[in-house]
Amino acid sequence: MNALTTPQTVTHTPQTTAAATAPKPSRAEAEAAVRTLLRWAGDDPTREGLIDTPARVTRAFEEWFAGYEIDPREMLQRTFEETDGYDEMVLLRDIRFESYCEHHMAPIIGKAHIAYLPKNRVVGISKLARVVEVFAKRLQIQEKMTSQVANVLDEVLQPLGVAVVIEAQHQCMTTRGVHKPGVAMVTSRMLGAFRSNIETRREFLALIAQPGLGSSAV
Ligand SMILES: [Zn+2]
Repeated sequence: MNALTTPQTVTHTPQTTAAATAPKPSRAEAEAAVRTLLRWAGDDPTREGLIDTPARVTRAFEEWFAGYEIDPREMLQRTFEETDGYDEMVLLRDIRFESYCEHHMAPIIGKAHIAYLPKNRVVGISKLARVVEVFAKRLQIQEKMTSQVANVLDEVLQPLGVAVVIEAQHQCMTTRGVHKPGVAMVTSRMLGAFRSNIETRREFLALIAQPGLGSSAV
């Protein structure tokens, strides 16, 4: 490849989405692909009940994968510095999300808990939920999503610490493969004080484990 011999000509970062390297297919092409999958499943895409399905599926894709269109750094840019010295933990727990596993495109449904220890700067709490949303609305593995949420908050807010715990059920595991319903996967990423200070981490984990406050089963 040319990129290997003349790396200085590469202007985009290699981790950008495939959509950045190949032109986005047209809606008609996407709908044709859905018709192919319907035939692959064993059905007839021309029968009445399925005639509008490809159009509906592509529109659903626009919602399920809306996160590719949003830059979370830009979204978090508006921060507030008038905190009167507030330096205790800010915690948003039980943030429900729906994502899709990148191996099977099956739903991952769960909740995220986010905390940070501000240093001069805070962000509107709805933005914490939006960050989860932006990364959830992409094809994911839970480990990567956990890191992405923690890393972007760390980068933009530059707080004393960030903690992210995600618990979720993977429908590729509950509805196929090993068929194990009720199994939740838990991932976490601790940065700064949450990683280095056991007390801070313990306080966070105790707060997210507390019943009530609108918590619900995954
Ligand atoms: Zn999967």
